[in-house]
Amino acid sequence: MTDLRSRTLVELQAEFAALGWPRYTAAQVFTWLWQKGVDDFAAMTNLSKEKRALLAERYRIGRLELIRTRKDADGTAKFTFKLADGNVIESVFIPDSPPDTRHSTFDIRTSVRRTVCVSTQVGCRLGCAICFTGALGFTRDLAWHEISAQVLAVRQYLGSPNPQFPIPNSGTPLSSLLTLHSSPRPSPLAPGPSSPVRSFVILASSFELPASAPRPSPLTPSPISNVVFMGMGEPFLNFDATIEAARTINAENGLGIGARRITISTSGIPEGIRAFARLPQQFRLALSLNASDDETRSRLMPVNKLHPLKEVMAAIREYSAAKGKRVTFEYVLVEGINNRDRDVKQLAALLKGIPCKVNLIPLNPFPGCHLKAPPEHSVEAFAKKLWPLVPAVTVRRSKGARILAGCGQLAGLTE
Ligand code: SF4
Repeated sequence: MTDLRSRTLVELQAEFAALGWPRYTAAQVFTWLWQKGVDDFAAMTNLSKEKRALLAERYRIGRLELIRTRKDADGTAKFTFKLADGNVIESVFIPDSPPDTRHSTFDIRTSVRRTVCVSTQVGCRLGCAICFTGALGFTRDLAWHEISAQVLAVRQYLGSPNPQFPIPNSGTPLSSLLTLHSSPRPSPLAPGPSSPVRSFVILASSFELPASAPRPSPLTPSPISNVVFMGMGEPFLNFDATIEAARTINAENGLGIGARRITISTSGIPEGIRAFARLPQQFRLALSLNASDDETRSRLMPVNKLHPLKEVMAAIREYSAAKGKRVTFEYVLVEGINNRDRDVKQLAALLKGIPCKVNLIPLNPFPGCHLKAPPEHSVEAFAKKLWPLVPAVTVRRSKGARILAGCGQLAGLTE
């Protein structure tokens, strides 16, 4: 029987037109499936009994089977899902805000960012040396609805009667985040000093949040504020499904997450970056860069041999010019490989003129990986050297590393 959730709105319109139903019925059904997240035809109460009966005869409503959740003390939760064909994927929920130290629980309703990281493929064929997914090879692409259903399933889980994740009272930093950015720059037309004074804002374990951070009301209906396509797989090697999923996650009658809160991260597929630039939506782009010269990058990311830096950065510059948006560059720091002084200079030169933020991520360990993260002082030294040379630098100590839910640690393991 056909899975009704595998149908886009346009497909529903066509299929329902063949039944002689008006167009708005497709919108009603789509809203029930994605915005309201119902799994039962009987719950679609604005459809007539006859329509519900006919739908139940012809379709089923598919959902991901949640087979495991693991929760880290920092509030991160990893979800392992079984697909209809038995394949397994993982998604991660990453809350980010100060914990309420008066209580032993972390309340997701008051966190500032509540991000879901989704997978786009079962495994990955790109084999990056910094990533557990890559070590396990590729099985298949996900369909668009299998991608957006991850957000729906996490939302349903968090919306359950007790959505709080326990954290210890020990004061474990919820977010070990070090952000370096410049103070607001005066307009060139405004009176004042010709060279703005730059300042460090260090968010380590103080839990102090930038004043400008979006702070959703505790009554915000969805427990999810952001979605990142940074889980298993290369999104731009499954482009159509990725974009259809992003549209559904964004749609008002879908999951209703703002386009600017949806980020798609690529390892650097130039034709994908260019196609992404042509989309009307304001989705955000991140590039997993990890090195600033071809030799080092090819060592960490074999895809660089196919699409060397010159080609990738040309596409990024075209994207930046076309969209006028800031690009996030992810840079996983690996001891002795890409954290040398010359890497700082090379990186700054590579990014020159691009409105951007660099996310430095000390390598997360995973089984079989022989690379190492630099020591903390070296990470901070790298950030401080880089920061004056690029618009913004963030050091992100991946959350969920203890449950293999950090950046580069997903593998769809069930044990
Ligand atoms: S980092 Fe991304 S592109 Fe590279 S192997 Fe892992 S999932 Fe694939």
